[in-house]
Amino acid sequence: MKKLCDRVYLGPDYNYYTGDICIEDDVILSVIPKEKSEPKQALLPPFVDVHIHGSYGIDCMNASDSDLVMLAKRLRENGVGGFLPTAVASDRDSILKLAESVGKCKDKSVLGIHIEGPFLSGEYKGIMDERYILPCDNTLFDDVKSYAKDKVIRFTVAPESEGSEGFCKYVCKNGGYVSMGHSGADNEQCRALSKRGANSYTHLFNAMAPLHHRLGGILSEALSDELYCELIADGVHVNKEALNIAYKCKKEKLVLISDAFEGAGEEKGTYSFCGKTIYVLNGKATDINGRLAASVGELKKNVLNMASICGFETAVKFASENPARVIGKFEKIGSIEEGKLLFV
Ligand SMILES: [Zn+2]
Repeated sequence: MKKLCDRVYLGPDYNYYTGDICIEDDVILSVIPKEKSEPKQALLPPFVDVHIHGSYGIDCMNASDSDLVMLAKRLRENGVGGFLPTAVASDRDSILKLAESVGKCKDKSVLGIHIEGPFLSGEYKGIMDERYILPCDNTLFDDVKSYAKDKVIRFTVAPESEGSEGFCKYVCKNGGYVSMGHSGADNEQCRALSKRGANSYTHLFNAMAPLHHRLGGILSEALSDELYCELIADGVHVNKEALNIAYKCKKEKLVLISDAFEGAGEEKGTYSFCGKTIYVLNGKATDINGRLAASVGELKKNVLNMASICGFETAVKFASENPARVIGKFEKIGSIEEGKLLFV
């Protein structure tokens, strides 16, 4: 057992305290606050990244369970204590291979799997490989579940894709989660999925039809409803003004993600992502034409970036409590409280 004495930490009410924290096997046994404190060198709750394709030279699509253990270790060193390895649109075997690695992985930080493809709109596919975009299919959820076992299963679904309502209902009834994205859906289509249990939107603004002031559409729905919105707050994928709009509209309902890929955390290199060659140089990942292709940011940088808009403590909440809530894991991770994960 580890005992941290007179340690400054950020409490679940987002005030700073000095107190004693006892931890066993990375789980908090007790937290005894003594007094309110200044934020200096405070211990923060572990971040939770619900959308990450890889980092530090590891690509989730090719990762074994031991690769995921390595990725988890590197992520913890950088403040991320829980994550969902995220699959891109690909053939069924490749997606199931990741589900199998996730299911087998004993690392506490591997909370589940996020399957970003294949149930997307061809028009808003982003960098995803069009060949693998398909109508919704409940059997993919069943197969993923058989491998991922009791881990979290989260799908990104375009509300306009064929069979989305039935799929969303099926996934949410069976303990999974649905996020809406890669889409040009109208407001009604989004509401239909929200009614069937979808609880978030995938990377707000990115791979999403822009807001039309008369026709509305997914972006107007995402900015005005009560669901959570993922946000890549790296200042590259979404500019500062758009981050500001997101905060003003969503207030407490933002979820910071990295959407990082294999090349994140590396100085430079050449990688393959979604079947394309991607070059990492000077903090950017681009394809051969210089088009922005993937994210190389670490979540902690996105938190600092967002902090300039909403304040540091709120930005921490967007990267810890909120993502944990989106995947139903806030009882296990996301704040410094008894019974929750804390890596020190
Ligand atoms: Zn992604």
